[in-house]
Amino acid sequence: MEDVSGADAVVIGGGIIGCMIARYLTEAGRAVTILERSEIAAGSSAGNAGILAFPEIVPIPSPGITWKAPVWLLDPLGPLTIRPAYAARLVPWFWHFWRASFRKNFEHGLKVQTALMRLAISEFEQVRKDEHLAPFVVNTGTLDLYDSEKSFNAAAPDWARKRKAGFDFHRVGRREIEELQPGLAPQFEHAIYSDDGLQVSDPAGFTRAIAESLRGNGVTIRIAEAEAIEPTGEGARIRLTDGSALAARTVVVACGAWSKRLAKSLGEATPLDTERGYNTTLPAASFPLKRQLYFNDHSFVVTPLKDGVRIGGAVEFGGLDLPANFKRSDMLIKLAKRFLPGLETGGGEQWMGLRPSMPDCLPVIGRSKAAPNVIYAFGHGHLGLTQSAATARLVSELSAGQKPSIDLHDLRFDRFSRL
Ligand SMILES: Cc1cc2nc3c(=O)[nH]c(=O)nc-3n(C[C@H](O)[C@H](O)[C@H](O)COP(=O)(O)OP(=O)(O)OC[C@H]3O[C@@H](n4cnc5c(N)ncnc54)[C@H](O)[C@@H]3O)c2cc1C
Repeated sequence: MEDVSGADAVVIGGGIIGCMIARYLTEAGRAVTILERSEIAAGSSAGNAGILAFPEIVPIPSPGITWKAPVWLLDPLGPLTIRPAYAARLVPWFWHFWRASFRKNFEHGLKVQTALMRLAISEFEQVRKDEHLAPFVVNTGTLDLYDSEKSFNAAAPDWARKRKAGFDFHRVGRREIEELQPGLAPQFEHAIYSDDGLQVSDPAGFTRAIAESLRGNGVTIRIAEAEAIEPTGEGARIRLTDGSALAARTVVVACGAWSKRLAKSLGEATPLDTERGYNTTLPAASFPLKRQLYFNDHSFVVTPLKDGVRIGGAVEFGGLDLPANFKRSDMLIKLAKRFLPGLETGGGEQWMGLRPSMPDCLPVIGRSKAAPNVIYAFGHGHLGLTQSAATARLVSELSAGQKPSIDLHDLRFDRFSRL
């Protein structure tokens, strides 16, 4: 059964987080293997909305949010659902989510997220200089739309927080909304426009392009599934489901929503769950979309991508294994048609992805305690693409024994025991 070849650094997971980490570790001179059970960009990195959402510094668990959840759950077109078969297993996650929404914890989360986003901006700036990756990054501007003046005003404190953190945007009314995106339903009279709304035009292609250039630089991409990790004297040993094993000096766990199982194999518990998200990608001709549109009161986005118009969002709690319920995608299309009456809704491709989500909406980036040469990098929720380069910088610093660019205390896997 044994096939324990000594590798230098093994990154488990070939999503955007794993591939970006492999890129940074390779640049730091490490000999890297990516271990991916399926194919590069098999998980949520494939079908996300592609938005580089740097201004999204305000944590979702915020004071008063727990009162909104029941209203969302009762709305059949609403942004949140819980699959009954999974509800009981969510209690610990929601407990920590509720605690994270306390004013003091929310303000602290805001600070941590802001620091991470600042790093995300500067690191992504470096990554996009790569001539192979630059063509994927486009600036379409972002239009954040509100149904009413009331909901616009309710969001004002969050915009004030973003302005305080240095993000630039301005309020627009009906006339400018129509200029920025012709064809929107007339109900939209209140919006925020940001003209530096960056996005990746093809999220799956972007992740695969990183992997391809790594392959060209000698990185091994091995298709196999990690089952468990054990500490060894010099590093760690990964047991694979095919019966073989792989030893390495550094092991990075970047398996997105599936990372919890590997942490558990080291005896380490963390409240990672998944917020399942749905979308439909329609042909490009379905609507003359000029930029990213975010329908704030309904928590979904419409983004112009290389191969079409992607309409997605929604949060469904249903764990890793329940089958997809594509009625969620249908509902988003129904809403999008209401807000963009000229939208052609035929010929779309539906998709579900598993966002790897921590209750405080901050990722886990840090060392395992049971096996210090194992580094965790998962739980990026709605922001994994956005924070991929920052995460890779931090993992690369940790693995080199350098002081991380930001304090990682609040991103450790076991932070919830003391919330
Ligand atoms: C609908 C939707 C829209 C989104 N929009 C955005 C957006 O606009 N901007 C943004 O920044 N983020 C967005 N996100 C979030 C983003 O997609 C995720 O945070 C990000 O993709 C997580 O990347 P990852 O590499 O951690 O996980 P994944 O992409 O899920 O990759 C994990 C990989 O690990 C592999 N794996 C799992 N277990 C094992 C194992 N045991 N052994 C080997 N391999 C294993 C899987 O096959 C998979 O390839 C969105 C998500 C969804 C669902």
